[in-house]
Amino acid sequence: MYDEIQDLLYDPIITVGNETLSNSDYGFETYAGTPKTTENTIQYLWDLSTQTEWVMKCEGCGTHQFIDSDRAMGIKGPICLKCGKYLNPREGHWVDMNPLKPHLGETAADKIQGFHLSQLIMPRNVPAAMTIYRSQDIVDAAERRWNRIVTKHREQSPTMFKNEVLGMSDSVGARMISKEELEALCMTGRTLKRTGPDDKDRQLVSQYVAGVDWSGGGTTGISRTALWIWGYCPGDQRLMTMYYEIFEGKNPIHIIDDIAHLCNAWGVAMVLGDAGEGHTANSLLRSKLGPHRTLQIQYGSQTKAINWNDLDRYMADRTTLIDSFFVELKREKMLFADLSLMGKAIDDMLAVFEEVTKAGRKIWNRHPTKPDDCLHAAIFGWVAHKILTGNLTFTQ
Ligand SMILES: [Zn+2]
Repeated sequence: MYDEIQDLLYDPIITVGNETLSNSDYGFETYAGTPKTTENTIQYLWDLSTQTEWVMKCEGCGTHQFIDSDRAMGIKGPICLKCGKYLNPREGHWVDMNPLKPHLGETAADKIQGFHLSQLIMPRNVPAAMTIYRSQDIVDAAERRWNRIVTKHREQSPTMFKNEVLGMSDSVGARMISKEELEALCMTGRTLKRTGPDDKDRQLVSQYVAGVDWSGGGTTGISRTALWIWGYCPGDQRLMTMYYEIFEGKNPIHIIDDIAHLCNAWGVAMVLGDAGEGHTANSLLRSKLGPHRTLQIQYGSQTKAINWNDLDRYMADRTTLIDSFFVELKREKMLFADLSLMGKAIDDMLAVFEEVTKAGRKIWNRHPTKPDDCLHAAIFGWVAHKILTGNLTFTQ
């Protein structure tokens, strides 16, 4: 049973979690949480679900309705949107708004049973629903609870009220950098070459570094590994994108061979690979490129931006690294190739968005179906450059 699903990253936690639970005697999983942005995992799961709503019949006008708006906020309880009479949450039943479609070949196993619970349909929050106990104390308590909801409606931001009281997603996540800003970093006419540096590159670039985000299988089952190669230009102290590639669904051994070949072609001084999903892949790459050139990094949540774990890898704070990378992009400290070649990379960089967890910590979340591998490959390559130059300060 997963709680606070809105603050969990889909691939590393849920995909891996379900795998470890595959021997359980209980053949189901439960996901619970509070909606946030429309891009959050909880909304993704809701979209796939039966979208079951608590439908109440209005005693005044006879319409059936469920609550998905603050327009249903009455002074003493939820009201009918049509005639304004109070609704009684006890007079309701669950209705699938996105029912199973057997004619399309859907079976119960394909569909998540999804229930929408809002504070407005909980009988204990609604005085009219508590009169059945024939106790004034109980009705008074419900009145106090409803008043608390009315106060929240008045004082909270509309987004917070929608998320936490109505139980609904709201608006897209905030992004530190826009599509236009990323596109502005593209250098017209600049190509991506598999063949390594040409004479012009040799004049401009003093050192090459690379980053690899290894595929973990992913939510959609699509195997997707990304490689990013930067070249450092001492003239303007910027990193220039020399090459990047997304390897999809290919034989992993061939991918490692190909990555080793490309790193050699470019004379990469250091490649930093993701250790979270790619420990074995990093070992294989190290055996081809040499241990001095191949290091690994693992994301986590920690107070230090980055540190060596005294064993086999760098440990880094994921939020700080992503924040700091975007700040560098905004300062135009990195450049991309021609816009026509950068579409997928830019999409990956826009796949993540900011959210704040219940514990008050800022994280970069990601839509469960949108890949972000290029972003992390680019970050790891940039960190490799920082390691080589001994500059391990990050904007926090
Ligand atoms: Zn009505």
